[in-house]
Amino acid sequence: MMAGVTVEEHHQALAAIVGAGNVLSPAPREYLSDGTLGRGLEGQADAVVLPGSAEEVAAVMRYCDAHDVAITTRGGGTGFAGGAVPQGGIVLATGRMARVRAFDPLLWRIHVEAGVPTAELRRIARGSGLWFPPDPGAAEQSQIGGNVATNAGGPHAFKYGTTRAWVTGIEAVIPPGEIVTAGGPVRKDVAGYDLVGLLAGSEGTLGIVTAVWLRLIPAVEASLPIAAVYPDAAAGCAAVEALMGSGIFPACIEYVDPPALAATGHDLPGGPPPDGFLVISEADGSEAEATAGREALRDALAGAGATWIATPDGDDVAALWRWRDAISPRITAVRGGKLAEDIAVPVDRLADAIRGSAEIGMRHGVDTMSWGHAGDGNLHSSFLVSPGDAGDNARAEAACEELFDLALALGGTITGEHGIGLLKRSHLAEQLGPAGQRLNAEIKRAFDPKGLLNPGKG
Ligand SMILES: Cc1cc2nc3c(=O)[nH]c(=O)nc-3n(C[C@H](O)[C@H](O)[C@H](O)COP(=O)(O)OP(=O)(O)OC[C@H]3O[C@@H](n4cnc5c(N)ncnc54)[C@H](O)[C@@H]3O)c2cc1C
Repeated sequence: MMAGVTVEEHHQALAAIVGAGNVLSPAPREYLSDGTLGRGLEGQADAVVLPGSAEEVAAVMRYCDAHDVAITTRGGGTGFAGGAVPQGGIVLATGRMARVRAFDPLLWRIHVEAGVPTAELRRIARGSGLWFPPDPGAAEQSQIGGNVATNAGGPHAFKYGTTRAWVTGIEAVIPPGEIVTAGGPVRKDVAGYDLVGLLAGSEGTLGIVTAVWLRLIPAVEASLPIAAVYPDAAAGCAAVEALMGSGIFPACIEYVDPPALAATGHDLPGGPPPDGFLVISEADGSEAEATAGREALRDALAGAGATWIATPDGDDVAALWRWRDAISPRITAVRGGKLAEDIAVPVDRLADAIRGSAEIGMRHGVDTMSWGHAGDGNLHSSFLVSPGDAGDNARAEAACEELFDLALALGGTITGEHGIGLLKRSHLAEQLGPAGQRLNAEIKRAFDPKGLLNPGKG
């Protein structure tokens, strides 16, 4: 691990900081991969360290800095970009730091440690009639620190924004081992550069988030979804634009393209729907607002040429969202594996991006499906593979490379929500351009001059 220090000495030094039971060496395999394991991404680390407080994180970092040991921070390990996959050194896992430091329901705010699971945070808020809107799909496993580090999105980011929009303050440990605070419980703060914004979405490359202050809002009384089918992607995307142009502000606008709907639609609540392009939207607010809002959505979607419409109520509302959350694993199940990327494009180029994804798949001889957050122009383009079929994988990898070119050609981004991690780092320079690259490199140097945090990423 480091010149002149044995693994045993190193283990003892870290154990002296966090306790013997909280240093795992050799590193257990489950800490060496994330949501990209299906793509064969597995890393290597000498140890896993599980600190219990920000002070312990700072002490671990001071030790690592003094001995030039790389640190890869790990939250719930659900990332889809390989960000938590270590490339040597130690894995610092935040799961033990899961305390609620303060909860002020009457002031709509909460101060939590990084290791609190996303779903648990949402449950705590709900228990007091409040709501934390960000809703990334793996909420039972992902942690709030990981959500902040990836600036995670989800269906309702369309109306409520991504995780960053809900963070008023971050406590982080930065090299060589200093606890710093940016923002806090204050709701407005424009002093200095936006360090909260820099750390949110930095994927563990600038600092280790140890705690966050979050804004909450009163929970909406009702959320009423609506599902509509269009003959094809062009008609469906035109409906999305018509919906946005209608002046209604829905809570989300999701889509499922025709091949993905054919693979998953048989048990859609309110279905099965006819073949075609599915749009899911939702009206929320008080009972009266949501009811009136859904009527307005129905008019707009029907007016845009829907061939089928469903308006789930009661238990079917939760069932629809469970169905939506399960699309990714179900598409994986079609062939046993998939390579999926999360490009995003301007909304008016969504139809081009969906068509382009399918054309790329066709050129490479792989079945292609896509679904995602239509209102945000965010696709989850997926190339299906059979596990263990090297040819399949190579074709799908080549298709993914072309997908990034497509996103940039359409004026979009190589990642709308999953981040750069290990998977997309070779495409970042192209998106940033020389000036953006220089600024990124200088920001990295300012936080992490030795390059010890998540080496090889960002
Ligand atoms: C089924 C499924 C559905 C998903 N749906 C969505 C979705 O709708 N929207 C979306 O945006 N993502 C989605 N994801 C991806 C993933 O859940 C998110 O990126 C999530 O925010 C990752 O959180 P995590 O705690 O698992 O982080 P990890 O995977 O552990 O880490 C992700 C990155 O953040 C860094 N990191 C983690 N914790 C910290 C910390 N405390 N300080 C500094 N850096 C840290 C890691 O080093 C890594 O670079 C989905 C994943 C799955 C498996």
